[in-house]
Amino acid sequence: MIRFYSTNDHGVRVSLEEAVLRGLARDGGLFMPEQIQPMDSSFFKKISSLSFQEIALEVSRHVLKEEIPVDQLKKIIEQSITFDAPLIRLSDEIYVVELFHGPTLSFKDFGARFMARLMAYLIRGQNQNIHILVATSGDTGSAVAYGFLNVPGIKVWILYPKGQVSMIQEKQLTTVGHNVTALEIDGTFDDCQALVKQAFNDQELSQRMRLTSANSINVGRLIPQSFYYFYAYAQVKNGSGPIVISVPSGNFGNLTAGLFAKKMGLPIERFIAATNRNDSVPKYLETGKFRPHPSIQTLSNAMDVGNPSNFARILDLYEGDLERIRKDLYGVSFTDEQTKGGIRELVEEYQYVADPHGAVAYLGLRDYQRNVKKTKGIFLETAHPAKFLEVVEPLVGRKVDVPSRLQEALDRKKVAIELPNDYDRLKAVLNSLD
Ligand SMILES: *Cc1c(COP(=O)(O)O)cnc(C)c1O
Repeated sequence: MIRFYSTNDHGVRVSLEEAVLRGLARDGGLFMPEQIQPMDSSFFKKISSLSFQEIALEVSRHVLKEEIPVDQLKKIIEQSITFDAPLIRLSDEIYVVELFHGPTLSFKDFGARFMARLMAYLIRGQNQNIHILVATSGDTGSAVAYGFLNVPGIKVWILYPKGQVSMIQEKQLTTVGHNVTALEIDGTFDDCQALVKQAFNDQELSQRMRLTSANSINVGRLIPQSFYYFYAYAQVKNGSGPIVISVPSGNFGNLTAGLFAKKMGLPIERFIAATNRNDSVPKYLETGKFRPHPSIQTLSNAMDVGNPSNFARILDLYEGDLERIRKDLYGVSFTDEQTKGGIRELVEEYQYVADPHGAVAYLGLRDYQRNVKKTKGIFLETAHPAKFLEVVEPLVGRKVDVPSRLQEALDRKKVAIELPNDYDRLKAVLNSLD
């Protein structure tokens, strides 16, 4: 049976149900699987012949053990991994894996869709509504909203920072309807995250309604995010040399999932933590000091996180050993000007149109290949460039096609409740609309 402990207290042990439905441990720590063991070498031998769903099933069975019957797990995967994550070769050394082929055009669809179905499975047969409270810096909210759309027994509240998400992201967040309510907060992403934390710590509120989170702090989102690392490896694998993976990072959930995959035996030589000017993790890798700061607005706004929650998980995985962390993780950050340069370079050199997040990952990979080691690398493209038309089109000098699923959201009317950065006001809304 799988158990989870808290990053604040290794004595804590909770079930899968508690870890996923609670989101955050009572002591404010993040849940970690008790053990992450290497997968069988036979799995890696056959990995190139497996489909994405087959890989996802093997990995999730390995992580979740016997916790969920295989037929149920298979159903969860068939309903959540409904789109591809193709690997594209740009050159002998540079590959990109596209994680934006889901309903909201961002990699967050993977985590959100799997977690929604996992939660629905875990609450089967109960009659109390569950309220998902989620803070978003851009893409989480819509992925979660669509992930949970019309899942029975679940209501979703999305807090997003007013004026700090793109017009398209806002449309995606505020046009879902049904069991999803958007709350437009006059503050930053960190403020939204703090409000969510405060709600979870509010005993009175949690007695009235059953609250849970869907941020990347939820371990139910991290598990599925490890799938595509295996799948990317399966696609690139042709018997040749070490591979590094560059991950455009904000709250560091995606990268943590990659480190889980490595712990499960995936032979990735090193990960590159590529950030925008919100560089507390690259700075930590450089100086050994973790100094969170207020978030700074950038072009790659889904990574505007000054105090990444999942840093606690990374520290925990390596027992705070800086040298061991450095061995697996290389950090580097880029300005908006550099990000624009990355978008231009990708078009000029490889005819590849990237979004600002993918461009940061590309720059991270190039930096590593130039300054550290000329190793074959994959960078993760985490959002479709059509989500950032205003930035991308002038740089690439042509129109970017807008996928129809995005156009449909753009054509609908925004519906959101505006709120100040004030916990009591948030609570009043949660109370009144239950
Ligand atoms: C959320 C997001 C990221 C950052 O992922 P983390 O898991 O928070 O580090 C990167 N790119 C895009 C497009 C995102 O939406």
